[in-house]
Amino acid sequence: MRMRKKKHGAERIAACAEILIENPTSLKDDPQAPFSDKEKLLCLEIGCGKGNFAVGTAAAEHNINLISMEKVPDVCCIALEKAMACKETRPDNLRFIIGDAANLEEWFPPRSLDRIYLNFSDPWPKAGHAKRRLTHRIFLERYKNLLKVGGELIFKTDNAGLFDFSLEEFEAFGLEMVWMTRDLHNSERAATNVMTEYEKNFSEKGFSICSAIVRFN
Ligand code: SAH
Repeated sequence: MRMRKKKHGAERIAACAEILIENPTSLKDDPQAPFSDKEKLLCLEIGCGKGNFAVGTAAAEHNINLISMEKVPDVCCIALEKAMACKETRPDNLRFIIGDAANLEEWFPPRSLDRIYLNFSDPWPKAGHAKRRLTHRIFLERYKNLLKVGGELIFKTDNAGLFDFSLEEFEAFGLEMVWMTRDLHNSERAATNVMTEYEKNFSEKGFSICSAIVRFN
């Protein structure tokens, strides 16, 4: 996601300190440390963008603690401010990390996550860039190390090419397909679906949304 550089970005991010995990390596000892109720499922969203899904999901799902991460600070700043703006209804089960998913294993202990969300990940359409796709088997190996046995990856995209590639990677990696659709908004999961900013934009332009849930056994 490209953005013009934000004025006073550092100050704006600092104002959201209470929901930002500034030193994610601290999670290695206790990944539930940022949360008051540590018994909830621990979920990670990678590439949260402007945070609509993060805020909506944390508010709707009271049984999860959600950590949403984004590598572009100016983009994450918008997500942080969106979460802070929820005032009384601000969910206590949502925190953010500004950082790159390539470092996940430095932050989280093995087998600590219940669920990973990938929403509208960059498609990297050139074949030479396949290894950068967040559903490439290099990343699936990382997710496998981080997820508990039986943990799930929940994936949404408008990009049919990325979806097809991802399904092949999931199968080659031996993941269990739990659920799959090429038209999420006309599926049985439409009613509980929390839209992302990209999702709203693409679906308004007439693109159907693909989604898959796979399990790491
Ligand atoms: N999920 C949001 C944004 C989708 S765009 C939405 O659906 O609206 C993809 C986002 O993932 C961008 O904001 C990009 O900066 C972020 N991203 C891409 N690779 C990443 C990585 N390796 N680690 C963290 N964030 C990443």
